[in-house]
Order: sequence, then structure tokens, then C-alpha cells
Amino acid sequence: MNFLQFLIRISRCQRLSVINANMNKNMQKYPAKEDYPDLSKHNNHMAHVLTKDLYEKLRLKETPSGFTLDRAIQTGVDNPGHPFIMTVGCVAGDEESYEVFADLFDPVIKARHNGYEKTAKHCTNLKASDLKGGDQLDEKYVLSSRVRTGRSIRGLSLPPHCSRAERRKVEELSVKALDKLDGELKGKYYPLGKMTDKEQDQLIEDHFLFDKPVSPLLTASGMARDWPDARGIWHNDKKNFLVWVNEEDHLRVISMQKGGKMKEVFTRWCNGLTKVEELMKKDGNQYMWNEHLGYILTCPSNLGTGVRAGVHLKVPKLATHPKFDEVLGKLRLQKRGTGGVDTKAEGGTFDISNSDRLGFSEVQLVQMVVDGVEFMINLEKKLEKGQSIDADVSGLKQK
Ligand code: ADP
Ligand code: MG
Repeated sequence: MNFLQFLIRISRCQRLSVINANMNKNMQKYPAKEDYPDLSKHNNHMAHVLTKDLYEKLRLKETPSGFTLDRAIQTGVDNPGHPFIMTVGCVAGDEESYEVFADLFDPVIKARHNGYEKTAKHCTNLKASDLKGGDQLDEKYVLSSRVRTGRSIRGLSLPPHCSRAERRKVEELSVKALDKLDGELKGKYYPLGKMTDKEQDQLIEDHFLFDKPVSPLLTASGMARDWPDARGIWHNDKKNFLVWVNEEDHLRVISMQKGGKMKEVFTRWCNGLTKVEELMKKDGNQYMWNEHLGYILTCPSNLGTGVRAGVHLKVPKLATHPKFDEVLGKLRLQKRGTGGVDTKAEGGTFDISNSDRLGFSEVQLVQMVVDGVEFMINLEKKLEKGQSIDADVSGLKQK
């Protein structure tokens, strides 16, 4: 950043951050140190960054729509850690949050996204033909393939902070665009409020729909307010192109199907995602995006591409091998239970996906999953034959 850009940034931040009118008015009667949260038992990125001094500096600021530091960090204060994943511990309430609270978000982003610098530029590549391989992953091990991302509509607050009217506007604008999709993408919107419990449970069980807001990560951030108002799922007839409305992000765009045809899944996803954006633009709507952070989403862990490409992978032998986590780390992959982020793996089957989102393009991330999953399947085959995998693991270079 040159000096002029620096000055522009400072003046923009000052314009955006005024003394907060919406917070508990008594806050100003107490020194910041008396309001500082107890983070002594915490292991999330926010807790590592938020010193008393930083808290004091940011505590009374707000974004133009009134989002505050205390609201941004509440989820990380209430959830000290997570059994599988190093969580971020803070969320954005609107597009400007990343600017007004940059002193918190920038180091969190750097820590979560492998040293991603403030000056770095993000790259996008939605050309599915650039993906090498992935046409047919071995279906003895790969049970299903999926790619998802999030998108946020500029000018409307994000789920932790949006008003009911804003949330309903997100639903209205999204459904208006989605209803114009045709061909294999033609589909229908199913609002949660009009579903029976049975229908909803079935969609969740079949892995199509987000869980009910049971996760404390979600509830503590404020994302589950007014549930199920203005939430829903849009999907095509084949249920292989799906859009979640107003869960953790305004939109979550998903392509999935049973089996190991990741390239087919990715191709449909790139195509559908591009079409949805074109339709949104035609209606005069833009996504939140900038050159540095890519697509702006609620959780800093999803900035950039927002892509999580993953498979349900059955590798019972590798799963109990002491080097399993080392393999995942070197391949830049993460594991979850097959029921979603808060579930435990059962029977050696995991949701294996890319752990990065920012600093790599969509194609690069899906490539990591395809190559990494093939590598892991080979390890599993060796273990099945009683062979050692130690040399494979020590020879594996950190990606
Ligand atoms: P996301 O990152 O998309 O929010 P979650 O971990 O919250 O993912 O899971 C959401 C739902 O998507 C869950 O029902 C989960 O089982 C399902 N899911 C995730 N990955 C896959 C996959 N590869 N195959 C089938 N279902 C999946
Ligand atoms: Mg989720």
C-alpha cells in the first residue's frame, strides 16, 4: 500500500467508525479493561489476537449499520474451542466490518489463511476445464462429492446482524433470480416455514439441508435469530444443485451427488454459480467482493473463494493410523463428521475437504481435494494389504 492509499484507508475508517449509538449506553461509564472478556481458557484465533489494548481501541466503534466489536466476538467468547477445528472466534455483521475492525480481523485472517498479507490480492478461477482429473474417484472409498461456497448481497447486513426486513429482502432477491434458472438447473424454492418437521428432517438426513440451529457457534453469533423466518432451500429437480438461503451466509451455493465424479460436480457448480450471479446482476444486485478479500462472507474462515470441496471418504484403516492427521495437514485438507461440522466421524467415514479458502483459486482448491483424496485412497489400499505407509507419509511434501 502506498502512502496515498494509506491516507484514503485511514480517512475511510474514521468516517465509518463513529462512537456507537446502539450499544449498552452504560458501557461508557466503565473503563474498557472492566469489560474485557475472560479469554484465559480460549483457543480460537480471535482470543489469540484480542489484547486488552486492542479491545479498548475498538470497543466503541461501529460500522454504518451499527455492528460492534462485542457482537463480532461473542461467538468466540462463548465457544472457547472446538473438538475438530481451530475456530475463528469472530464474525462479520456487514461488509464494512472487515474494515472498521481491521485491527482484529487482519491478524485473524493472517493466522487462519496461512500468513495471507494485508497487501495480498485474491484470485478467482471458475473454469472447471482447468481441473485435472477427478472424473472418477474410486467409489469403494468415495461415497459422495460436493462443492459449496457462499455469496453475500451488497448493501444488506449479514446473518449475525441483519434485521428481519433485510433477511426477508435477501430471500426475495435470491428467489427472484433463482426462479429464472432453466435447463438442468431449473428448480423450486422451499421455505423452512412451510415445511413439515418430517420433510425438514428428511432433507437434513439426506445431507441436502443445513442442520437446525443447534450449534453454539451459530447461536452465539446471532445467526439463528428469528429461526426459521426467511430461511429455506432452493434446489433443482435432481437435487444436485442447491442453494441455501439465510443460514450462515445470505446464500450458500452447492453442487453435490453420490459417488466420485468430482469433476462433474465442480463443472455444474461453476456453471450454476456463474448463471446465478448473472441473474442477480441483471436485477441490479451485486455480491460483496473486493480485490484483497475476494468474496466477503460472514465467517472470516470463508473469505476468498468460500469454497469447501469435499467427499465423504471411507478409510477405516487410515482413520485409526497415528499419521492420519499428519497426512491431512500436509495435503492441506481437513476432516469433519459426515453429519456436518459439529458431528463426529463414525465407522471410519469422514467428510474430507480443503482447509484453505483464500489465496488459492477455486480450481486450485478442488485440485488439492482430488489429488489428496487419491493419495489417501492409495494409503488405505496399502494398509488393507498389511503394508507400511510410513515412507509415503514421510516422503509427502507439505503442500
Ligand atoms: P458446510 O461447510 O457446507 O456448511 P457442514 O459441515 O455444515 O458443511 O455440513 C452441511 C451438510 O452438508 C451436512 O448435512 C453434511 O452432511 C453435508 N455434506 C457436507 N459434505 C458432504 C459430502 N461430501 N457429501 C454429502 N454430504 C455432505
Ligand atoms: Mg455449515
